[in-house]
Amino acid sequence: MVYDGESKIDNGGEIMRFTYAKGVLCLGISASLLVACQETEQEVDLDEIEEEENEDDQSPSEADEEAEATEEEIEEETKPEYILNEGNWALEPIDDAEEEAVLITIDDAPDEHGPEMAETLDDLGVTAIFFVNHHFIDDEEGEEELLEIKEHGHEIGNHTMTHANLAEIPEEDVEEEIVELSDEIERITDERPDFFRAPHGMNTDRSWEVVEEEDMLGMNWTYGFDWEEEYTDPDALADIMVETEYLQNGANILMHDREWTNEALEDIIIGLEDEGYDFIDPEQIELEQE
Ligand SMILES: [Zn+2]
Repeated sequence: MVYDGESKIDNGGEIMRFTYAKGVLCLGISASLLVACQETEQEVDLDEIEEEENEDDQSPSEADEEAEATEEEIEEETKPEYILNEGNWALEPIDDAEEEAVLITIDDAPDEHGPEMAETLDDLGVTAIFFVNHHFIDDEEGEEELLEIKEHGHEIGNHTMTHANLAEIPEEDVEEEIVELSDEIERITDERPDFFRAPHGMNTDRSWEVVEEEDMLGMNWTYGFDWEEEYTDPDALADIMVETEYLQNGANILMHDREWTNEALEDIIIGLEDEGYDFIDPEQIELEQE
């Protein structure tokens, strides 16, 4: 029911406390600021042309007020709308964000179908997190696939170098499993991942420490079925993904880069929509936990 692939161990009940630096969020804000600044500059240019003869109309204090208003607008645009519940891995709305919304995540990417799944989701207006492993991006083809997924607007998440069970490897190897992959993702995409998911959902104290040091938000999931034998049939998978009792507000939906999931993906998304659910953009998620 709610396990990742091969493992039957669910860490979902553990409550972890950690904090995150604002680095990546600030990057996002900077990008918005840049756009906003460009727009403002254009507006100012137009104003200058239109009001050439009334140059002194705008006092410095009025200009300050305008600038402040612009800053507030930007803050509102980039303000996180959902927070991860670290007790059950669901997403909860902050303030008045839509409650009836789910997050789509695709693990073990980009294997055979990642780019196609990325395109399907993009065509349907859904932005997902693709959690990647290094063995899928360690050659030119893999790197191109990673870039393709990103170009479709999706978030790239860290799923460790080798898909190791972090609870079963020496503690001193945990950092390498996580940090080396973030280094590689950054080398290829120019961006370090914001999100981490441990293979099989198996975290350790050390893995949480590293995730915190790396300013990532670690998450498991609330439900998924595509690793169970009976749901390797696309129709069966599309049905269960929508009919399951686990489909609830804020569901953190786990799927994998698999043939049957790829085939069922459009039906799953349309099915979720028909049930009344919106899709949470990973950029709407608060990265800095309490
Ligand atoms: Zn996995």
